[in-house]
Amino acid sequence: MFYCNDCAEKNGYPETLSKSFGKCEICGNNASCNDCPTSKLINYTNIIVSMTKTSEDGTVAVVPSTKKQYPIIDVKPNGIPDWYTGAFTLCFVYSKNAGNFILRGFRGEVEKYLQKNYHHYFCYWSMWHNGQARGHWDFWKDHVGFFEPSKARKDWKYQVRPYTTFGEHGTTPEQIKAMTFSFKRLPKRWIPEFDVF
Ligand SMILES: [Zn+2]
Repeated sequence: MFYCNDCAEKNGYPETLSKSFGKCEICGNNASCNDCPTSKLINYTNIIVSMTKTSEDGTVAVVPSTKKQYPIIDVKPNGIPDWYTGAFTLCFVYSKNAGNFILRGFRGEVEKYLQKNYHHYFCYWSMWHNGQARGHWDFWKDHVGFFEPSKARKDWKYQVRPYTTFGEHGTTPEQIKAMTFSFKRLPKRWIPEFDVF
């Protein structure tokens, strides 16, 4: 017990995998309820607007600013509740053909949905568990990586480039250099430069 599916839908709360019968915290009806106290839920709307992350070296705002609200697509859960695939996830997608949008659901299902329905995109995965977030950037092709600013490398820019092991016999440093894009701030939409990958 905690909140029923009707209330989940009305409030945009996630449906949890474990359920139990009891009195809904919100409407008071007896029903099969999602096993998560509403006090533990994060206000997802606020997260989308205000989500920033401070990493160990003090870099701030890894998460894209979304003052401009993007459409949210809910992906239905049907997966396994482990931390990774079962983590509540917001995926900010910047696509070439479908524009910017957010996928909301659990990591495993969202990833499958994204790969099945889209191509030519980069995205930021924000995964939530017990009120804490972890996240990373991703490119639609596996051989391309997003490298965040790093104190260790004394590099304060983002780099988007192929991994060095890319290609049949690996890729030469010259080839990598020709396909390396540096950004002080990552673009907030697909850019033609990314067509090269
Ligand atoms: Zn209810």
